[in-house]
Amino acid sequence: MFKNLSTQMKITIVIASIFIIFGTSALILNYRSKANKEANDPNAVKISASFYPLYYITQKITGGNDTVTNITPAGSEPHEYEPTTVQIRDIYESKLFVFNGAGLDPWADKIQENLGKTGVKTVNMSSKFNILNSVEASEKGNQDPHIWLSPSMYKQQVEVIRDQLVTMTTNSTNKNIYNNNADLLLKDLTKLETEFKTRLSKCDKKEIMTSHDFLQYLARDYGFSVVSINGLSPDREPSSLELAETTKLIRDKKIKYIFTETLASPKLAQTIAAETGAQNLILNPLEGLTKDEIDSGKDYISIQKENLESLTKGLECR
Ligand SMILES: [Zn+2]
Repeated sequence: MFKNLSTQMKITIVIASIFIIFGTSALILNYRSKANKEANDPNAVKISASFYPLYYITQKITGGNDTVTNITPAGSEPHEYEPTTVQIRDIYESKLFVFNGAGLDPWADKIQENLGKTGVKTVNMSSKFNILNSVEASEKGNQDPHIWLSPSMYKQQVEVIRDQLVTMTTNSTNKNIYNNNADLLLKDLTKLETEFKTRLSKCDKKEIMTSHDFLQYLARDYGFSVVSINGLSPDREPSSLELAETTKLIRDKKIKYIFTETLASPKLAQTIAAETGAQNLILNPLEGLTKDEIDSGKDYISIQKENLESLTKGLECR
């Protein structure tokens, strides 16, 4: 093979070959150990959450060590969203699936039982709480699913997810990570809760009007009440009779502000505001973040602070 080559050249080729062989096997070994690490590493648990608030908690508690997927994409409303086949397959490949229930993510209710049979742990968050009835016909089953908007109920959700993750893992380092991260999040949420309590304690108004019934739990916590515009769905045009009734209600109750939400169309509230001179204020129901909100670094806590600003204005707090 090397007949025509000089001895020096032959030596060079042999040495080069040795390097190539060793180099390649080193690469293969390196690749293998990585793959093994992922398979064995209890940190790399795959978790799916049906929508943003549950995704946020899970992401915070796992601290980026696990793979957490939010099924409802940025800018979509979970009330309307149906996951793709690829997403459903992803959920089946997860170790844990967390969803809200109470009619928010009805597709999740449907697959829950089957997921359990294939060994995926599921948490139906609303089953841990007393769920209020919704006045809204559009909320399926007439249950009010918006339990994440109450900071105190949200704190309990952190505990539920933390306990689930801690129970599922056998590794004590990971248990510590989950517990410590959950403690940090709970501390931040307690601060938020206190801020709500303080700022909403001295208000001239005791009632707000919204275009979508999503504030019952929060209102109950902080002692104000919510009038939902005729229980209409946010995208439906009201009849002239409904419009007249609502307009009268606003005038009678001297309502100055109507709360509209970010993801749904504010059309109805705007029509009524134009009719009565009431102003629109934005409240974010936190059902999902838009891409812009994600890019600008907003999260559950910062958006709840913005909501608090709107509420103090609408309730005329001092
Ligand atoms: Zn909603």
